[in-house]
Amino acid sequence: TSVFENVQQAPEDPILGVTVAYNKDPSPSKLNLGVGAYRTEEGKPLVLDVVKRAEQQLVAEKSRNKEYQAITGNQQFNKLSARLILGPDSPAIAKNCVATVQALSGTGALRIGAEFLAAHYAKPQIFLPMPTWGNHNKIFPLGGVSQKPYRYYDPKTRGLDYEGMLEDLKAAPDGAVILLHACAHNPTGVDPTEEQWEGIRKVIRSKNQLPFFDCAYQGFASGSLDKDAYAVRSFVADGGECLISQSFAKNMGLYGERVGALNIVCRSAPVASRVDSQLKLVIRPMYSSPPVHGAAIAAAILEDGNLFKNWTVELKGMADRIISMRHQLYDALQERGTPGDWDHVLKQIGMFTFTGLNKSQVEFMTREYHIYMTSDGRISMAGLSSRTVPHLADAMHAAVV
Ligand code: PMP
Repeated sequence: TSVFENVQQAPEDPILGVTVAYNKDPSPSKLNLGVGAYRTEEGKPLVLDVVKRAEQQLVAEKSRNKEYQAITGNQQFNKLSARLILGPDSPAIAKNCVATVQALSGTGALRIGAEFLAAHYAKPQIFLPMPTWGNHNKIFPLGGVSQKPYRYYDPKTRGLDYEGMLEDLKAAPDGAVILLHACAHNPTGVDPTEEQWEGIRKVIRSKNQLPFFDCAYQGFASGSLDKDAYAVRSFVADGGECLISQSFAKNMGLYGERVGALNIVCRSAPVASRVDSQLKLVIRPMYSSPPVHGAAIAAAILEDGNLFKNWTVELKGMADRIISMRHQLYDALQERGTPGDWDHVLKQIGMFTFTGLNKSQVEFMTREYHIYMTSDGRISMAGLSSRTVPHLADAMHAAVV
């Protein structure tokens, strides 16, 4: 017998498991709206044109090699990544108050942040919005940071429970870490307005709480990199400290290359420098140093004015296609006279619509229509196309009537 005889079969990941089930389904009309990855109107994965061009440049550079990177990764990438989220004239960057390390996409950045807080922050307890991206609940406890929920989404209005959120932040201990989705909240697609962000910022700062921004969708929500950075920049502008994880999975379509960064904005340059030195001690025993290729692509795009400009155009194209899917789905539901109020399909922001469909309605749609999504009723608008909208609308209609 094996020494692992008692190992139990683990359940599939709630999000990635949807794709496993989808792959097993032989139906030709099957549709995967589970995983948050962009698809073209033809339903195909997209490699951005600027990514192809950056890769060609990299291949042509004779001096490139495959040596190890520094523990904190590609320094040029780190600098440009911080500038992308904080803005080109960020005083925090100018004063060297930001410690930035390359990370294994957004997930890796969150995990480094968690382990750093567990080791160096007096109150390693994080408050997560309810609901939140399913991986947050695992990353933080495993990284040594205990978690608690705060109210965020109101199922009745399918919008933000602003009052509840403020109440819970006020009730949270002084100094607690507060996780905030920088834009395009996953899974709900519900973001605070600029005015509401101001109210949230005031409460968090008045209680000396530490904001930890998860920024996985910059540019993907509105189509504008600057607009989607609004919340983060408003918190950095007040001079306070925060953490920001960044992912280039969605906005550059670099999913499998695992390109991201963790930024820790500090009060002073000496603190940022000491924080940077400690981040190395977190990273070194975890994976030693990050991979070369993806960060080199991102750096090439961020540093070249021409590529950067083309990137913003392609990014806006993806964001616009998603927004147009919202309109097409909404119209298709109206045409069918589907019972219920579907305004939230138009109002929600980013890659996902939090439909409000319950678990048994989701199961019905999977069983009868071969449409796959997470059991909380979240559908990836990026996985839809004009061709597949009618099929989805038929299924949603049948599920609710
Ligand atoms: N945070 C949120 C809110 C996300 O939706 C995602 C991607 N689904 C991530 C972080 C991290 O993804 P990745 O590790 O692929 O960058």
